[in-house]
Amino acid sequence: MTSLLFPCSKRKFRQNFILTIEAISALCYNVNMIDINDVWNDTLSQLAAHVSANNYSLWLERLSPYVVKDNVLYLTAVDRVKKQTEKVYLPQIKTALNKVCPSFSDVKILLPEEADALGAGDDFFSGELVIKTEKKEEKSAFLPKYTFDTLVVGESNQMAYHAARAVSENPGSNDRFINFNPLFVYGGVGLGKTHLLHSVGNYIHKNYPSLKIVYHTSEQLINSFYNALQASNKTKSMNDFRSFYHNIDVLIIDDIQFLAGKKELQNVFFHIFNELYQLGKQIILSSDRHPKEIETLEDRLISRFSGGLMADIGQPGLEMRVAILKKKMQFEKIAVNNDVVYYIAERIDSNVRELEGALLKVILYAQLIGKPYPDLDTAKEALKIADNGKNEDIDSTKIIDAVSDYYRIGKNELLSKKKTKEISDARMIAIYLVHELLSLPLVTIGQLFGGRDHTTIIHARDKISQKLKDDERTKREIQDIKSMLSISG
Ligand code: ADP
Ligand code: MG
Repeated sequence: MTSLLFPCSKRKFRQNFILTIEAISALCYNVNMIDINDVWNDTLSQLAAHVSANNYSLWLERLSPYVVKDNVLYLTAVDRVKKQTEKVYLPQIKTALNKVCPSFSDVKILLPEEADALGAGDDFFSGELVIKTEKKEEKSAFLPKYTFDTLVVGESNQMAYHAARAVSENPGSNDRFINFNPLFVYGGVGLGKTHLLHSVGNYIHKNYPSLKIVYHTSEQLINSFYNALQASNKTKSMNDFRSFYHNIDVLIIDDIQFLAGKKELQNVFFHIFNELYQLGKQIILSSDRHPKEIETLEDRLISRFSGGLMADIGQPGLEMRVAILKKKMQFEKIAVNNDVVYYIAERIDSNVRELEGALLKVILYAQLIGKPYPDLDTAKEALKIADNGKNEDIDSTKIIDAVSDYYRIGKNELLSKKKTKEISDARMIAIYLVHELLSLPLVTIGQLFGGRDHTTIIHARDKISQKLKDDERTKREIQDIKSMLSISG
């Protein structure tokens, strides 16, 4: 439920689409474990019900979560958006945020340069929040909506599912004929890896409450590692970092591919892994690719990661996509006709997150135009508007021109083989944007950029995706170029 394209204020919409307060509170209890983007996305979902579609996309959608410090959520925005939002929406934002999570004491909006000045000190993680009540700390780290019950099993994920079930029923057991330790689940974005990992976590938490489970996104792992490295008493903080993993029974790390290039962390993680493994503790990892394809992952880690059960998750077929939509409708208590369900499932075939997003857009659009349930025409109209809204006649030439203008680097140089830092950084941004905005095949993008190999394209795309996680400057530059192309966000 990230971007609500057609927010509306009807009651039914709210009942169906805004996360229930319980679910939201569960999210809040575990903010330590959750990216602040999740908290912000849920806050936006709350706000969407109270703000017109226009104002929502003009102002609120242009705010970006930056950091949590002393229980204050800091957002960033360009000057115009900051002024208008502070003038009109700040109280509403605070109310919505506190509905999502009462532990926040305030929200502040910073200009990018103010955010840089605020920095990210060593005493907090970007998503950390001090939770106030006792009860909350006892809650599970896992999203209640991600369980085996809400997961549709089909050809594309059955191996991963069965392995995950086996591990959940008997975590860390070394008596099996097949070794399930570690369980390494890999597959493309939006195909259900996180859902599966949370399902394992929820299952173990419920059925083996005495087991200590740690779930980290690799971003959290990376943040806490670098915070420990930068602390004033490094020896103590590194010992604390390692000993945090000593007494746990199940370790789950999501999106381990981000360990690529982090040599020191890989080294420390290798020892944590070995220690847990030797004690028969269950380790579960996910990645968007096979360990061998994770660039700069040490050989000894590749071999450890591949030493248990490797299970890939592929793209779901049509019937499975239909089943996923139906499951989603059942969970959200929404009814949509079969022909509409098939229409959506046929159109979106590569990513379950997008599939769910399309269903949401169709239903919101029907609400907006006053139809209790969407019919086929409404669905077609809704998805057409969504498509148009997305990339109004943008093509690769426009993207390359915009990047060339922005960095004041000639177009020919961008497409050339020149490797000076300035040119190759700008080229990687251009490649990233062409990939993100046009979803062209990698080989085609390679051809557009002077006949480059598709692996070069993957490298550029991944490098920028990685930078976008922690480099404010890259984030800002990409946002600026997108605004030049008249795309928000
Ligand atoms: P990933 O971690 O692989 O990027 P997620 O686990 O975040 O993907 O899945 C994206 C969305 O798609 C989530 O809302 C998830 O619940 C849903 N989803 C993915 N696969 C399935 C499935 N097999 N059954 C039900 N929902 C699914
Ligand atoms: Mg994920």
